[in-house]
Amino acid sequence: MAQEPSQEYIHVAYTMSRPYRWSAGKYLSKLYKEMRDSKKLVTNRCPKCKELLWPPQMVCGRCKVRAGDDWVELSDKGTVAGYTYLVYPLWDPHAGKRVGEDHPYATILLDDGMYMVSRLEEQDKEKLKVGMRVQAVWREEGRGRGLDEDILYFRTIEQ
Ligand SMILES: [Zn+2]
Repeated sequence: MAQEPSQEYIHVAYTMSRPYRWSAGKYLSKLYKEMRDSKKLVTNRCPKCKELLWPPQMVCGRCKVRAGDDWVELSDKGTVAGYTYLVYPLWDPHAGKRVGEDHPYATILLDDGMYMVSRLEEQDKEKLKVGMRVQAVWREEGRGRGLDEDILYFRTIEQ
């Protein structure tokens, strides 16, 4: 009796496109649009406790009430609360290029009391200090595409 031929598998590779759009929601989108179009930081205020919410939110976490649309423009100046110096030893194996540049990254206490994480312009490690005063440097050319890209970095304004 003849044997049945074994089952043969054929491998076919193809690339499937998966386009998608992500919505940041009404409140976070307002912040992103103001940053992109007006180079401003904005947030909303709780109608009950009057606290500024950061980032902008629909509900005040403290009062559990709808925050609404009481928008406030924030200062883009602040004080460095902490920093680290990022070193990128990473290489993109596909492009043969280095990924990113070494740079200081800081947590900044904005003058209105919100914390924000961003790059610092100052590259000299000897000049980096907790407590140094900084101000956002906004992207000039073209349109930014989101929170990280509309502020290039924070520049030292006082030591
Ligand atoms: Zn509240």
